[in-house]
Amino acid sequence: MSILLVGEFGAEEYARWRENLAACLAGDEILRLATDKYDPASIEIALVANPPAGSLVGLRNLRLIQSLWAGVDRLLSDATVPAHVPIVRLIDPNLTQAMTECALACVMFLHRQFPAYAEQQATREWKKRPQTLARQRRVGILGFGQLGQAVAAALASLNFDVEAWSARSHSFEGIRTRTGQSGLAALLERSDILINLLPLTAETADILNANLFRQLPRGASIVNLARGGHLDEGSLLDALASGHLAHAILDVFREEPLPRDHPFWSHPRITALPHVAAETDMKTAAKIAADNIREFRGSRMPAPLVDRAKGY
Ligand code: NDP
Repeated sequence: MSILLVGEFGAEEYARWRENLAACLAGDEILRLATDKYDPASIEIALVANPPAGSLVGLRNLRLIQSLWAGVDRLLSDATVPAHVPIVRLIDPNLTQAMTECALACVMFLHRQFPAYAEQQATREWKKRPQTLARQRRVGILGFGQLGQAVAAALASLNFDVEAWSARSHSFEGIRTRTGQSGLAALLERSDILINLLPLTAETADILNANLFRQLPRGASIVNLARGGHLDEGSLLDALASGHLAHAILDVFREEPLPRDHPFWSHPRITALPHVAAETDMKTAAKIAADNIREFRGSRMPAPLVDRAKGY
């Protein structure tokens, strides 16, 4: 029985994945690329990275799906992905490290008021703004999972005043965690910087909307590192125009690549990144996938599994 690799890849990327996976998989494993000729009935395991909808149709002996991406929202939105086949998420320390570094860069950029100084530079204005220390800067994190926890811990270690919001309650040294709508309201009203690290689900879609922005203190900034579908774009433009929000750093968008005529590109109070916060590291992801396949071959189900009912 074989392994199928399917993703939104060009020929060169497929070739690099093949090379990295071949270096890690057990010698008797047979790897097929979606672009190869193969018998669908021979596929037992699918390694997927944002696969085009319908990619897994006809794989009647499929028993395991290993995601090579941290987010599985695109995969779960494909109704043809068989509901009975377990999906394993990618947990990669390198990806977590990359996200942590990106979130730290965003918070430092906002904390040290670089957007305001950039505006001053444009008009050659020499003006010192009041200095604030990290312990006086309140950061709220939506999502306290693999990535949210690492980001929260890194910020707390620099003395930022961090709170995080999740579905279940968590206890975590040095970080107040909140749940539910009342917990969200309490977190929002004290967040000078709000970072979104939620998965995109039916419950979290459009969560960054006018109602949420209103609950943030005037002059707050937002950082969206999760998914474009979390953000109501019109409400963000309104909140920036009214001055209620000072700045937004966006790594993800409803449409990617961000269309060339999109207003976010030229907005002075938006920093737009081309979905680079934390990219899958092919080498480490291939090793993690291969280790999970070894576990599966040894009759142990790898973890963590996606909870289809929750959507993440
Ligand atoms: P996890 O699944 O580990 O964590 C998700 C967190 O969100 C959990 O704390 C969960 O709560 C919480 N959550 C989910 N639904 C709700 C809800 N309705 N209300 C409150 N809290 C909720 O995900 P990761 O940390 O690994 O990743 C988060 C997201 O980051 C990914 O889904 C992906 O979209 C994005 N991402 C972006 C990248 C980029 O380059 N920009 C790269 C990688 C990921 P609980 O703890 O109770 O389960």
